[in-house]
Amino acid sequence: MTNKTSILQDLHGRDHGYLRISLIERCNLRCTYCMPEEGVQLSPKSHLMTYEEIFAIAKTFVKHGVSKIRLTGGEPLIRKDIPFILEKLSTLPVELSITSNAVIIDKFITILKANGVKNINVSLDSLDKAKFKHITRRDEFEKVYANIFLLIKEGFNVKINAVLMKGFNDNEIIDFIKFTKDLPITVRFIEFMPFDGNKWDMSKMVSYEDVMNYVKSSFSESDIIRLQDAPNDTSKNYQIKGHKGRFAIISSVTNPFCDSCNRLRLTANGHLKNCLFSATESDLLTAFREGKDIVPIIEKAVRAKFKIRGGMDTLEKLEEPQLHNQNRSMITIGG
Ligand code: SAM
Repeated sequence: MTNKTSILQDLHGRDHGYLRISLIERCNLRCTYCMPEEGVQLSPKSHLMTYEEIFAIAKTFVKHGVSKIRLTGGEPLIRKDIPFILEKLSTLPVELSITSNAVIIDKFITILKANGVKNINVSLDSLDKAKFKHITRRDEFEKVYANIFLLIKEGFNVKINAVLMKGFNDNEIIDFIKFTKDLPITVRFIEFMPFDGNKWDMSKMVSYEDVMNYVKSSFSESDIIRLQDAPNDTSKNYQIKGHKGRFAIISSVTNPFCDSCNRLRLTANGHLKNCLFSATESDLLTAFREGKDIVPIIEKAVRAKFKIRGGMDTLEKLEEPQLHNQNRSMITIGG
């Protein structure tokens, strides 16, 4: 018997069974917290993974233990060959899911169902049309709102991701929670995280504690139910008594969940990021195109994973622009 551990286990004993694949760097929204106003330098098309390459690289990860794949971006649904990508990936023994802004998701209901996609995370940072336009720099609120109801009606498990920013949408926390009264959805409040060009600073962030203070001031303590979190969950999960849906908080900044992290990220240009916050990446695509074995590159990258937030293990380090600006903008990582 051999003692060799999986190539997807890091030096801190974490197994990485979850791969998030970014399909595209472009998006049909322009969220201010996700990308700089002037846009991002896009990779030339020839540098992006084709759908065959996505499949081949994903297959390698699955062979070594990945059992969950989430497609993200940019906006994954604006990639023209998304039907082929879904079709190919659905042949792998994985739970396939997608994160989308839902602007055009109504056109993909059949294809998502046909390929076994059940879990859809939708980004929606405001329930107010004008604020939505302000934050996304696009006037698409009505489409997204209607599509959330469509997804629920069609039987998908829907989670809403709302990035909170102080003075902008923190006054909507309770409205979002009320949204879960009759809808079987989970609203996840995400602490605003620093990435290159998103003008982050700690004072704009609404923390886990802030969210809970809002909740406690609106609901009685006995009605706020702390739910059991799933293994490897990034969020702390709650429900208000009598509500069909739930809410959750993703506290990557104030209360990171690195100990149980099982995630790896593949960028649209085929680079492996071992952490959302890592400043370094490993180019799998070039090696793959040169006919090299990508397994040792993956193994090395996984073993190099820092214990906490790409090495920014204190809030002071996270606040240091020289450190967090070494990372890409979120739009080109794939959140
Ligand atoms: N276009 C898709 C969407 O809108 O969901 C997928 C890509 S988007 C980059 C994925 C997720 O990253 C979204 O839920 C978004 O809210 C989150 N995100 C982007 N920038 C963020 C930041 N600075 N802090 C926290 N979450 C962020």
